[in-house]
Amino acid sequence: MDTPLISLDGVKRYFGSGDTEVRALDGVSLDIHTGEFVAIVGQSGSGKSTLMNILGCLDRPTDGSYRVRGQDISELNVDELATMRRETFGFIFQRYNLLASVSASENVEIPAVYAGFSQADRREKAGALLTRLGLGERAHHKPNQLSGGQQQRVAVARALVNDADVILADEPTGALDSGSSDELLGLLEELHDAGRTIILITHDPKVAARAKRIIELKDGRIISDTGSGDAQTTKPDTYRYRRKGPSLVVQVIESVKMAFRSLRANLFRTALTLLGVVIGVAAVVAMLAIGQGSQREVMARFESMGSNLLFVRPGAPGTRMRGDAIATLTLADATALNELDNVLAAVPSRSGSATLRVGNKDYSTSVEGVSEGWPIAQNRGMKYGTFFTKNDVDRRVGVVVLGTTSAGNLFDNVEGAVGQYVFLGGAPFEIAGILEEKGANAWGQDQDDVALVPITTGMMRLFGQSYLSSITIAVDDTDIVSETETEARNLLLARHGTEDFQLRNTASILESVQQTQNSFSILLGSVASISLLVGGIGVMNIMLVSVSERTREIGVRMATGARRSDIMSQFLIESLVVGGLGGIAGVLIGFGVCFLLEANGMSVEITLLPAVLAFTSAMATGLVFGLLPARKAAHLDPVTALASE
Ligand code: ADP
Ligand code: MG
Repeated sequence: MDTPLISLDGVKRYFGSGDTEVRALDGVSLDIHTGEFVAIVGQSGSGKSTLMNILGCLDRPTDGSYRVRGQDISELNVDELATMRRETFGFIFQRYNLLASVSASENVEIPAVYAGFSQADRREKAGALLTRLGLGERAHHKPNQLSGGQQQRVAVARALVNDADVILADEPTGALDSGSSDELLGLLEELHDAGRTIILITHDPKVAARAKRIIELKDGRIISDTGSGDAQTTKPDTYRYRRKGPSLVVQVIESVKMAFRSLRANLFRTALTLLGVVIGVAAVVAMLAIGQGSQREVMARFESMGSNLLFVRPGAPGTRMRGDAIATLTLADATALNELDNVLAAVPSRSGSATLRVGNKDYSTSVEGVSEGWPIAQNRGMKYGTFFTKNDVDRRVGVVVLGTTSAGNLFDNVEGAVGQYVFLGGAPFEIAGILEEKGANAWGQDQDDVALVPITTGMMRLFGQSYLSSITIAVDDTDIVSETETEARNLLLARHGTEDFQLRNTASILESVQQTQNSFSILLGSVASISLLVGGIGVMNIMLVSVSERTREIGVRMATGARRSDIMSQFLIESLVVGGLGGIAGVLIGFGVCFLLEANGMSVEITLLPAVLAFTSAMATGLVFGLLPARKAAHLDPVTALASE
């Protein structure tokens, strides 16, 4: 059976509808056999390019059938059409349509990339073709370093690189001077002699005269056809176009290379886009490190407090008033709590600030009235001297115990201060001892900047108040701390009649501190994430610009056999590369900021997790924000894309 290579039957292509309908092709029937050299001629607007787009599978007929080697192309999906283009057709355009950013050789290689040839094979094929076309020495030149005739020869080499059976040339000499034009036609004749099918579109009768068969179009119809002269038979081959494209690895490598190339082509723009991502990632890394660092510090201080303590504060649960202002806890409460089983000490406390005076030296500090159980509850020993006794408390004796900071501010010789007197609120207090050093507490307060007096003495002489601001209970056996807590609560409830106090344990305090810290971290994290989001929007913006700028490139890639997925992955990989580069730079800068802060005494915790997280988010940002532009690129119509400026 004689199957024509190309067979059109009643092909129509209408644009628009109703009044504006344009019948670019209006019932074209035509067979072309392998090895023919056909010229399609006609005036401008007669439908030549439309026919060429349909022949090259860039466009589909509105009506009628088109078969290639017996395969009805309406049965092929978009990817199979891409394969068909790649393996059967080589395009030569009037305006060459080379990619400006890559060398002649790389331009020639593009269709071979989509056909899945290895880099070495591609290079070799492209080199051989360019040499054969007299461009061997120009292989590494960019298109703008070549003359029009040379560029068109590069385009011919690109059309040949996948061993296309059919060369489709749309006005290939339109932009060439007569010399180059002649050369190109000679080249096409050579290819024809070598057995290829050439379909040449031209409006120039002299050019058409070089072909063996001339088909004339007018208003979308064939008005004359000189008929096929040297027809050969073609084997039907329906399954040829179902082949797979390049392997994923080849595709990714090519896309990454292309991505770097296009990013380099717009260095300044790339730098600005990257900056958005870099700032976002650096912010995430630094903010999380700061959050974690402060959490670690605060938690460490709290943990040093010990887990055997219960705290009683005045005021009903949930009240926010300052404890001192609420008059519900009394010394008698503390005494009663002290009697409970498993209680080492229930230490009442009330504090105020006062000025200590020795001779002509003044020092203002916080004075706390406590009971003799204080050293047990606070797990605090003495540096010099002794703590005051129960007897001192009961008899309201004027004694004071100082921390090293407050003592150091009053005495040059701290050790010698024991036994001396300080004036507190106008009355003399004997210094019973100096506390051992403890440093700052969970709130950053210096725990050595204190003066402790018996609570009874303090109430009488200093505070002018007989209510407590807190009671701290030290528990003996921490295994039954919750039982003790319940007993303490019941005791106070019985004494007060209502719950006008708050009883908490260290664990619950730790928990609420941790919650505060967590919300602090979340706050920092979200501020940082927002900047990453802004960076992502920047990436999307630039990718969208890039897609519109490179519409023609996308058209050329599609015409030379790129599938939608190839285009999609190329643009996705470009935005992933932006995300990845921004991620790496951001992590490094974030770490740099952390080290700087740490060197300046801030508590930061540099861990790998936030860095990995931020880097991953940057990649994800690239992916998510690259998706829309990539989709837009992949769904461009090849004909429209090629026609764009
Ligand atoms: P030629 O290549 O012979 O100059 P074309 O095939 O480009 O002619 O165009 C044939 C007719 O179809 C013209 O009238 C043109 O305006 C119209 N046409 C081509 N493409 C489109 C399109 N995408 N939308 C609307 N009209 C089109
Ligand atoms: Mg045209």
